[in-house]
Amino acid sequence: VDVDFAAEPFVSQPKFRESEWDDNVGYFIKKKLRVWCQLPNGQWESGLIQSTSGEKSSVLLSDGSVVKVSIVVLLPANPDILEGVDDLIQLSYLNEPSVLYNLQYRYSHDIIYSKAGPVLIAINPFKDVQLYGNDFVTAYRQKLFDGPHVYGIADSAYNEMMRDEVNQSIIISGESGAGKTETAKIAMQYLAARGGGSNGIECEILQTSRILEAFGNAKTSRNDNSSRFGKLIEIHFSTTGKICGAKIQTFLLEKSRVVQLAPGERSYHIFYQLCAGAPSGLKDRLNLKMASEYNYLNQSGCLAINDVDDASKFHKLMEALNTVRICREDQVHAFEMLVAVLWLGNISFQVDSENHVEVVADEAVTTAASLIGCSAKDLMLALSSHRIRAGKDIVAKRLTLQQAIDTRDALAKFIYASLFDWLVEEINKSLEIGKRRTGRIISILDIYGFESFQRNSFEQFCINYANERLQQHFNRHLFKLEQEKPIGLISLLDEESNFPKATDLTFANKLKQHLNANPCFKGERGGAFSIRHYAGEVLYDAVGFLEKNRDPLHSDTIQLLSSCSCHLPQLFASNMLNRFQKQSVGTKFKVQLFKLMQQLENSTPHFIRCIKPNSKQLPGMYEKDLVLEQLRCCGVLEVVRISRSGYPTRMTHQEFARRYGFLLSEVNACQDPLSVSVAVLHQFDVLPDMYQVGYTKLYFRTGQIGALENARKQVL
Ligand code: ADP
Ligand code: MG
Repeated sequence: VDVDFAAEPFVSQPKFRESEWDDNVGYFIKKKLRVWCQLPNGQWESGLIQSTSGEKSSVLLSDGSVVKVSIVVLLPANPDILEGVDDLIQLSYLNEPSVLYNLQYRYSHDIIYSKAGPVLIAINPFKDVQLYGNDFVTAYRQKLFDGPHVYGIADSAYNEMMRDEVNQSIIISGESGAGKTETAKIAMQYLAARGGGSNGIECEILQTSRILEAFGNAKTSRNDNSSRFGKLIEIHFSTTGKICGAKIQTFLLEKSRVVQLAPGERSYHIFYQLCAGAPSGLKDRLNLKMASEYNYLNQSGCLAINDVDDASKFHKLMEALNTVRICREDQVHAFEMLVAVLWLGNISFQVDSENHVEVVADEAVTTAASLIGCSAKDLMLALSSHRIRAGKDIVAKRLTLQQAIDTRDALAKFIYASLFDWLVEEINKSLEIGKRRTGRIISILDIYGFESFQRNSFEQFCINYANERLQQHFNRHLFKLEQEKPIGLISLLDEESNFPKATDLTFANKLKQHLNANPCFKGERGGAFSIRHYAGEVLYDAVGFLEKNRDPLHSDTIQLLSSCSCHLPQLFASNMLNRFQKQSVGTKFKVQLFKLMQQLENSTPHFIRCIKPNSKQLPGMYEKDLVLEQLRCCGVLEVVRISRSGYPTRMTHQEFARRYGFLLSEVNACQDPLSVSVAVLHQFDVLPDMYQVGYTKLYFRTGQIGALENARKQVL
């Protein structure tokens, strides 16, 4: 594979000098203009300079009080006419309090969208805002409105796709609860309205969200409807711009949630929806009880979500399953697997005097076995012993209690994750694209944001690694920046995972041995290490890394499933057998991300940064520090600076070559887009300091494209 792939790149943020104040301080003080003044508590307040002597100024704050502060804690404020501008690049002063205030001003007027140069900023309103629906779609389509909006982004993507025949991507990022999934749906809504045709496929596409959310979203402490997987939806269009199909790709579902919950959180919505909404006939057939009866669900002390009616969600889900043509029979099979998972969680064990376990023969094991389609005896055997090879013989080895619990939980997780994958495949069959075309695809990426908790494990590492990749893509496009510090942690993890005697501690030591010279890595005490990510340093605990990366499933379990009389377990097991010599979880994710990045690199990106204004999921509450932290870590402020200071017009080499290449007076021997572009620039005498050649794009100062456009118009 590509060299780029050999190690995970860790990107660093570009830094820009804050020089505007240095140039303006004297002027502001002399003219007694409005300033931002940082109070001892760290908050910025706006005020008017009253007088200055030496290094101290007296500032009149808006509440009427006067403070005496050092001039180093003053920053210029923008003139009133710039209050609440659409695009941060319009601000005269771009310091952090000005940016924060501008966004807050808009937010308090329910204007949740703003631009930061080419990037759309979306601040979660946590309430219904009157910004969507047919009238707004029409307004954006007919260009009656041009204020920042997801519709505007989707509209540009659509138009650019039709005009240039280049694939487009809408890349949505932000932390958990910032509004990514809702934003993705709003973009899909616009594209469905824009590209809807007679085949009704757009309705199917919109319904897929309902299904994926039921099976892949859960209540967490930070979001009542948190997606526990990443997804990329490709929407394919015909030559006339009508939707002709779609394809969904998912990333790294959080499987552990099926068996283990943090207090106050829930497992996947579907379990509660099924328990609450299944008709009584189905309940009897599946021996389904109330959610509170199942250990996997009742362990966290949270069974319901405020203002959510699980039963009615279940009915809507059934409609959605019908819409994507998953037949009634398969729906029931899927429900059987869900209930099997729930009963698996109720299976209990008893330990004999020699410390060997036996499965308690009760309703839980008989029901689980009958739903999976095997005998209770076989299931009990598979959960209490492992067959191992001893010389020429195969002997059964009894498990310890912990091993038995782990085997049971692994089976439950495997069934659930397989069901999820199966569902995505079925949806994809239903949305299948007739003939594959390229150049007319809009992909929408909604992937989990950067995470840093008190305790961070393998899952956070994978998520943060994905975010590194996306940030790298963002930086490449917007800053022409190619800074990478390879780290190669996943290959070290794989090496260690293949070594039977390895432990999490030997893994942590291996990291320290190999990575200590890397500036992004720091070995910590015991099994801990920290990584300096673009968005901040995260302390990881190596405990569980090996096991989660190996994700073992015993061959006994697979054999059990493949000999079942039911269709789905058989299917899951055979899929599993096919890749039995499978890749580790880390490597699989890395390969998947690598492909994703290639796909994104071959498309024109449109970035949306979702911002969470408060951590309480409440409307009308704007916590400045929280917002600032999010703006800082994703590089939005730098994008604004670069867009403003430099080269606001940008085109990929391909776009440029395609648009202006034909103006060349001499046929260019080299056909690659970059040489064609450079030849065009030379022919039209565009001065060197009027443009910059980037990694994938050309950047122009304001107005430079005008001359080329005129020449083009004259020829056409
Ligand atoms: P993320 O996917 O980033 O974790 P979600 O998209 O699930 O976040 O949003 C979390 C919650 O915020 C949603 O369930 C919804 O209540 C609210 N929300 C997000 N975006 C909007 C919006 N544009 N309008 C109204 N509510 C929104
Ligand atoms: Mg989400």
